[in-house]
Amino acid sequence: MTAIDGARLLDDLATLARFGACGPGVDRVALSEADIAARRWLAERMREAGLEATMDRVGNVVGRDPRAALAILIGSHSDTVPRGGRLDGALGVIYALEIARSLREHEAGGPASPIGIDVVSFQDEEGTYLPFLGSRTFCGTLDEAEIASARSADGHPLADALRPLAEEPAPHRLDPARHLAFVEAHIEQGPRLEAARKRIGVVTGIVGIRRFRIVATGAANHAGTTPMALRRDAGAALIRIAADLLDRFPALAGDETVWNIGAIAFRPGAANVVPGVAELSLEMRDLDPAVLDRLEQAATERVAAESAAESGAGVSATIARTTTVAPTAMAPDLIEAMTAAAQSLGETPVMLPSGAGHDAMELGRVLPAGMLFVPSIGGISHDVAEATSDADIVRGCEVLAEAVDGLRRRLATAGR
Ligand SMILES: [Zn+2]
Repeated sequence: MTAIDGARLLDDLATLARFGACGPGVDRVALSEADIAARRWLAERMREAGLEATMDRVGNVVGRDPRAALAILIGSHSDTVPRGGRLDGALGVIYALEIARSLREHEAGGPASPIGIDVVSFQDEEGTYLPFLGSRTFCGTLDEAEIASARSADGHPLADALRPLAEEPAPHRLDPARHLAFVEAHIEQGPRLEAARKRIGVVTGIVGIRRFRIVATGAANHAGTTPMALRRDAGAALIRIAADLLDRFPALAGDETVWNIGAIAFRPGAANVVPGVAELSLEMRDLDPAVLDRLEQAATERVAAESAAESGAGVSATIARTTTVAPTAMAPDLIEAMTAAAQSLGETPVMLPSGAGHDAMELGRVLPAGMLFVPSIGGISHDVAEATSDADIVRGCEVLAEAVDGLRRRLATAGR
């Protein structure tokens, strides 16, 4: 078994958190000075661990195990949201570094195993310019046109932000002849492990996301002088649709389905004006496309029914899907390896879907992928208050190291 060094792991996490430190958290958005400096530091740490490490011209840092022709790729991202936490992304990158380093020490003097460990920190997972810029570049699923048109929320072009990296090597790419699997550890970013008093989560898959815009159209008019029977009230129609969907969804949903009406707007939007146009955004997430199909169908039927019922009153309603993210299943072998590793160390893992997107979603479309979660105190993330106890951080890395050991053994005996 590869024994990791918990104190060294915590020390590296603390050092990484100094790049862009912001109170107890970190502000290290993609391609900022702090982000690039952190990546150069990471590459140096990887080199010290015996890896061949470089940052490429999108800012991905990959450390390659020079002794092995085959490798398991481990990592996450080291960019953060503005005023983010010190663990989101960083945890998975430092776990990977510590596991690769411990393996090297464990094998010192002896023969290297046929399956090595490559370490990665992907760029802009958080989407400051383009969500999953790094992992999509690595997987070859991003085209130049997307890079050329991407801008930050304040209008800064991605192409400009990448200019300081123009002299760096060409982007690292996934190597299908080398990379056997991708493993990512991450903080849970939710309350479930803490509520269950468990220290390890094994991710079953990353949910699919569908978003919709529902628009009701009537006519604005004076709310004091227009009799109720003569109104073309788009707002009332939209509220009826929304209330009905919230009533109906529970019976159609799976155990893990979530949905959200996250924004609603009436126009013109005044106390004394009947709304002429009303609009809401509806989002739904689940691992199972069939569940999302059911909810989508219910929403579509309800909107059509409202439109039909109100046509005499001069109100119509439409629904359009605006975002589609397909679910990504985690590989059964990796789920099994993580579960077995947790159990062998005396933990009872919680099996759960990831409700948030991760780099493993992109990697999981082209390579067997697995994810491990550690608890988030209070379920808080994307905030400077994000935290996990030191003991849980170390335990998570021990479980991941054990899982990777098991996986390497199994792959080696399987002849790969
Ligand atoms: Zn993350």
